[in-house]
Amino acid sequence: MNGGGMPALPSAFLARMRAELGAEGYEAFLQSYARPVCRGIRVNTLKIDREEFEKISSFALRPVPWEENGFYVAAEKAGRHSFHFAGLYYSQEPSAMSAAPQLAARPGERVLDLCAAPGGKSTQLAQAMRGEGILVCNETDPARARILVQNVERLGVRNAVVLNASPDRLAAVFPAYFDKILVDAPCSGEGMFRKNAREAVANWSEANVSFCAERQRAILGFAAGMLRPGGRLVYSTCTFAPAEDEGQIERFLSEHPAFSLLRERKIYPHEAEGEGHYYAVSERAAEGPERGAFLPLQRGGAPAPARAAFEAFCAENLRRVPAGTLFCAGDVLYLLPQNMFSVKGLPVLRAGVRAGEYRKGRFEPAHALAMSLKAEDFARTVCLTAAEAERYLRGETLPGGGKGWCGVLVEGYPLGWGKASGGVVKNHYPKGLRLVK
Ligand code: SAM
Repeated sequence: MNGGGMPALPSAFLARMRAELGAEGYEAFLQSYARPVCRGIRVNTLKIDREEFEKISSFALRPVPWEENGFYVAAEKAGRHSFHFAGLYYSQEPSAMSAAPQLAARPGERVLDLCAAPGGKSTQLAQAMRGEGILVCNETDPARARILVQNVERLGVRNAVVLNASPDRLAAVFPAYFDKILVDAPCSGEGMFRKNAREAVANWSEANVSFCAERQRAILGFAAGMLRPGGRLVYSTCTFAPAEDEGQIERFLSEHPAFSLLRERKIYPHEAEGEGHYYAVSERAAEGPERGAFLPLQRGGAPAPARAAFEAFCAENLRRVPAGTLFCAGDVLYLLPQNMFSVKGLPVLRAGVRAGEYRKGRFEPAHALAMSLKAEDFARTVCLTAAEAERYLRGETLPGGGKGWCGVLVEGYPLGWGKASGGVVKNHYPKGLRLVK
C-alpha cells in the first residue's frame, strides 16, 4: 500500500476507516491506494457541445457516470493543451464533479458558490445556468480568488460575480437572497490522500478534523441564512470523516429545523472510479422570512465618452455588440449581467465580463472579452491549428494581413486577441497566462 512513494497513512485515520467500512470494505479501500489516481476533464458547454468536443479531442475520453459532460482522461498534460487555454474544458477530479449537479441550478436563478476557488464547481454551475441569472462565486483566500477569476474568464462565464469575502460578511448583505447555495467546504482532505498524498497526509490530524468541523458548522450557519425559503443547499467535502460529513449534516439539521435532507452520498475510491467525496442535498421549507429583494445597482452605466469609445470599437472590430449592461469602474469597463445587484461595500474582484479599459479617449479590449465571444462575433479572425496555437500562447507574433483587432482562434475557438497592422498580427495574449517552456 505504501509503495510508489505513498507516505504512511495516519493510524487513527486507518482505525476509523476500518470501523466504518468493516473488514472486507476496509481491505478493498486499502487496495485502492495501489491503483492510479483518476483524472478527469469536464467539457465546457458554454463554448462547445459535448459531441463536438469528442470529435476534436486528442485525448481518449471515457464518460464519468455522474456528470454528463465529464470524462476520464489518461493525459497528465490536459492543462497544457491549447483547447484548455481556449476554455473548452476544465480539468476536474471525477468525484468532485458529483456535487454541483445536485444543486440543479437553472438559468435565471440567483446561485451562490460560497467556497469557490479554484472554480471547478462554480464553472460547472455556470454551465447549468447558461449565462442567465446571477452566479456569485465567493472565495476567502485572495490568491485563490484571483485564480478563480482566471478560470471564470477562461471558461467565458458572463454572469458571475467573484467576491473575496468571509461568509459572515456575505450573510449580513444577502439574507434569504439565493435560490441555491453550494458549500464546498474547506475540509481535512482525507479523500485526497491518493492524489496529493504528501501534502494531504502531512496536514492531517484528529485536531484538524475537529477544527474543520467547527469551521464548516459556522459556514453552513451563514449559508442557511442566505437561502430563500424553498431554496436548495448542497454541502460537500473531499473527506471521509463523519464529523465533517454525515455527522456535520445531522448537527446542521438539528440546529436548523427548517431544513430537510433530500439525499446524501459518500464516494469511496474502492467503490467508484474517483477520489473520496461526500455531498448532502437539503432544502429549506417553503414557509419562512420573505425572500431577500434584489439590491439594485446604485451607480449605473458608463460616462458618455467611454461608452462611445466602446461602441466605436465594437462597430469596427466585432459583428455585434456583446450582451450586458455597460458599467464603468475607474478606467475599466464591464458588461454586467441582467438584474445585477449593488456591490457597494463588498470586495468584488469581477462582475460580469471585463470588457476593457478606456484610456486617453481610446478603448482597449480585455482578454476576458475575447474569451466570452464566439468565433462569429469577431469582424476579423486569425485561424490557427493546435500546433500553431502553441506559438501564439508563447507570445509570438503571427503573420496576417489587414488592420485592427482580430480574434485569434484555435480550430475555430477563441484564444485571445491579436492586432493586425503592416502584415503582422501583434500578440495580445496576456503575459501572465502564457505558456512557458
Ligand atoms: N469549490 C472549489 C472547486 O470546486 O474548485 C473548491 C473549494 S475548496 C474545497 C474550499 C475553499 O474554501 C478553499 O478555496 C478555501 O480557501 C476556502 N475557505 C477557507 N476558509 C474558509 C472559510 N472560513 N469560509 C469560506 N471558505 C473558506
